[in-house]
Amino acid sequence: MIQMLWSTYLLPAIDILLIAFVFYQVLLLIKGTHSVQVVMGLAVLMGMTLVIRHFLKLPAATWLLENFWSGAVVLLAVVFQPELRTALAHLGSRPLGRLIIPGRLSFVDEIIGAVQEAMQRQMGILLVLEQDVGLRNYAETGTMINGEISKELLMAIFHYRSPLHDGAAIIQNDRLVAVGCLLPLSNDPSLAKILGTRHRAAVGLSEFTDAWVVVVSEETGVLSLARAGRLERELTVEDLRRNLRELYERRAEKNKSSWTPTHA
Ligand code: ATP
Ligand code: MG
Repeated sequence: MIQMLWSTYLLPAIDILLIAFVFYQVLLLIKGTHSVQVVMGLAVLMGMTLVIRHFLKLPAATWLLENFWSGAVVLLAVVFQPELRTALAHLGSRPLGRLIIPGRLSFVDEIIGAVQEAMQRQMGILLVLEQDVGLRNYAETGTMINGEISKELLMAIFHYRSPLHDGAAIIQNDRLVAVGCLLPLSNDPSLAKILGTRHRAAVGLSEFTDAWVVVVSEETGVLSLARAGRLERELTVEDLRRNLRELYERRAEKNKSSWTPTHA
């Protein structure tokens, strides 16, 4: 009886839920990207294949479309390469993040200090805060620093005459890992036309990873924060301070409750 219930109702239900979940995740992933058009194109082709094969029964056209579909897996992998990369990066990310020593959030104040001064002086800043998804491949495009974060260090790096001011600085926990790093540009068409490459790079990285990216505009001194593919503009220093404190306090909590010493 239970056996029958399981195999006739529960198993198919789980199966359907699983597929629905996968579809939902895929839709979330491609929502608002150029992939939507690709998916529409594929749907049209699929419809054409059905009509040509089953209703019109055209042999040559059927042959062409069938061959297309057998190669489509490779085509899909190529077209959706960025999305696949994002999805795999999230799958492989460390669920607990790296350890942050609770109570030592003074680096946040150093960052805030630098941002505040940069806004006043209209200095361009592009600062990446790594979360669970590792950013080593991006850090490697720049110059490795691995130094303690201080306002002065950040100011020195982003000074327009510094040889390292171009590109992004990457922060992992309370360390400045690398500077002058190259980030992927977003091609989100809804980003305002007036935004240049610095802002597009910030949004781009936040589309591919769970990093937070802080931007100060060189042209206007405006402070923005990119996360999860969205750019919040015209923030105040206090907005940023509150957001960063919340973020790192939450992570410190998470670490405290789940972290057990491995080599005590
Ligand atoms: P701003 O408001 O500061 O002028 P913007 O969004 O208008 O910013 P640009 O004026 O194009 O952008 O800024 C150019 C700077 O952005 C470059 O000097 C470089 O430091 C940085 N930048 C551009 N592309 C990238 C990239 N792919 N990765 C990292 N940094 C980048
Ligand atoms: Mg510009």
